[in-house]
Amino acid sequence: MSEQANDAQTCVIIGASHAGVNLAFNLRIAGWAGDILLFDADPELPYHRPPLSKAYLASDDGLDSHRLKSADSYVQQQITLRLGVKVSKIDPDQKVITLNDDSVQSYDKLVLATGARPLIPPIPGLDAANNCFPLRTAADVENIREAITPAGGKNVVIIGGGYIGLETAASMKKLGANVTVLEREDRVLARVTAPVMSDFFTCLHKDNGVTIAIRKNVSAIESEGSTNLVRCADGSEYPADLIVVGVGIRVNTELAEAAGLKVHNGIQIDATMKTSTDDIYAIGDCTFHHNPHYDRWVRLESVQNAVDQAKVAAKAICGEVVVYDAIPWFWSDQYDVKLQMVGLSEGYDEVVVRHEIGEGHKFSAWYFKGDTLLAVDAVNNAKAYVIGTRFIKSGDLINKGKLADLGVGLKPATLG
Ligand SMILES: Cc1cc2nc3c(=O)[nH]c(=O)nc-3n(C[C@H](O)[C@H](O)[C@H](O)COP(=O)(O)OP(=O)(O)OC[C@H]3O[C@@H](n4cnc5c(N)ncnc54)[C@H](O)[C@@H]3O)c2cc1C
Repeated sequence: MSEQANDAQTCVIIGASHAGVNLAFNLRIAGWAGDILLFDADPELPYHRPPLSKAYLASDDGLDSHRLKSADSYVQQQITLRLGVKVSKIDPDQKVITLNDDSVQSYDKLVLATGARPLIPPIPGLDAANNCFPLRTAADVENIREAITPAGGKNVVIIGGGYIGLETAASMKKLGANVTVLEREDRVLARVTAPVMSDFFTCLHKDNGVTIAIRKNVSAIESEGSTNLVRCADGSEYPADLIVVGVGIRVNTELAEAAGLKVHNGIQIDATMKTSTDDIYAIGDCTFHHNPHYDRWVRLESVQNAVDQAKVAAKAICGEVVVYDAIPWFWSDQYDVKLQMVGLSEGYDEVVVRHEIGEGHKFSAWYFKGDTLLAVDAVNNAKAYVIGTRFIKSGDLINKGKLADLGVGLKPATLG
């Protein structure tokens, strides 16, 4: 579509986080000359979410160090930000959305970048617990900080041993709290990594003084004065001045469903990010899409996916022929450990682990299905991450024997 063709049109974006904000700026790059309206229920100038459980939680840095874009840059790009405004309805026939004050806004193109919200498990007593918070927004971090300052000697219980739970544990420990992670499965990170990675992160946290308790199904929370007692189904109990709930997310698909869009484990989109309804696109955590590399439908929770889908949607909206075929990647920071992951490990039947000699916490886990490399988890090892990405993208076969042989250098030429 030429600039002349869209300069009188309006693109409305619901959700101003990683996906929505990147889309707005990429629309300008792709040649959208019309209006861009960006709505978000969160009143804060949009910010990066990953630091919420890492640097932002563990330091006194203000949120301004973590903004996605400066306030000025929205003005410069003529992007209208409407913050603290919830969209309550989409009417695809009339091409209008309704806002929470009952006003309406018309659109020519609409993009859902509504992401996800924390899953709150139905644990008796959780609603009434003192200082009990999820961790998804800047406001959640403010609540946590307020409840835990000063942190020294306070008991923090984190429900859920996934990435957010473990990163929060590391940050809380840094602040001086006594930290316990309660995980229902028999290992942390069970849903996303191999046992070798779970063992590594369990030891890392224990070495840093965090208690990791597995097979702990939280069955009730009792509030006592200003504190709590977290009870587990096996009879164990943990005192908690602060409880952080990190057991997963629920995708924000209600708007899409009510508007008749196809939804199944997220808003279904095609390779151009278009939904089942004309002129409506969806991007980021809220989507369910087909990954051509792995030939399966996936719902991803990552900044990479939000940013890359935003780029594709911007081009598609402006009329370019484009498809989304990215290899997923993700990262996590805990203490001095940087974990980088590339690919999707689900369905693996073998893991080759390679510890680099004499380099402390520096190793990588390579997930194979037969001879096909599916994914790599690289701990403090950017080289393994880069080389793994290259092999996954190209589909070239890796000699597993050479990969496991520390006498063979970690180089594409020697691993083939
Ligand atoms: C603590 C934490 C740490 C993380 N760490 C990492 C990491 O290290 N690496 C990584 O890759 N990913 C990480 N993630 C995941 C990453 O932040 C998400 O994948 C990313 O935020 C997805 O972006 P999004 O724009 O799709 O959705 P979201 O960030 O969920 O944003 C959706 C936005 O839509 C708004 N919205 C929803 N419905 C409406 C409505 N009806 N009206 C108006 N506004 C609405 C919401 O207010 C929200 O701001 C982390 C997430 C969290 C919470």
